[in-house]
Amino acid sequence: MAVPKRKTSPSRRGMRRSHDALQVESFQECSNCGELKRPHHLCTACGHYNGREIVSAEA
Ligand SMILES: [Zn+2]
Repeated sequence: MAVPKRKTSPSRRGMRRSHDALQVESFQECSNCGELKRPHHLCTACGHYNGREIVSAEA
């Protein structure tokens, strides 16, 4: 089995993990209710997508 020759240093490990952080950056206003929603996703507030009601408003 192939085995790494050297232990990964804390610095290398940190550099590798520098891209691991989770982030959600983009939001758009829903064209129906104006609530912030994620692009290309159903509006969670009113259940509309692309000008139509896909899911009726939940609870
Ligand atoms: Zn909406």
